[in-house]
Amino acid sequence: MSVTQVEAQKSYQIKINYHKCVACGDCVTSCPVNLDQRRLKGFLDESNAVILIKNSNVRVINENSCTGCGTCIPVCPVKAIDIVMRP
Ligand code: SF4
Ligand code: SF4
Repeated sequence: MSVTQVEAQKSYQIKINYHKCVACGDCVTSCPVNLDQRRLKGFLDESNAVILIKNSNVRVINENSCTGCGTCIPVCPVKAIDIVMRP
């Protein structure tokens, strides 16, 4: 198995502390995968978003699309996000 194949199998879990989250949406707007999807399709909804604000709460929608880049972590004003690699 090539290194590329191993990399492609990595998957991540997006952990959000809902006791801390204030639903500001900064993670949603900073996520590069969300940005790419919005650029490609012209919209962002449950069909293509990694994370989304829904009913005034942030929701993990398509976790399998998360690349584990970590961009969302420092932008969260209340440090409510943790990204962990699945074993
Ligand atoms: S780790 Fe990267 S891809 Fe995953 S939700 Fe955060 S910003 Fe998006
Ligand atoms: S950036 Fe943090 S506080 Fe804002 S919606 Fe995301 S998890 Fe919640």
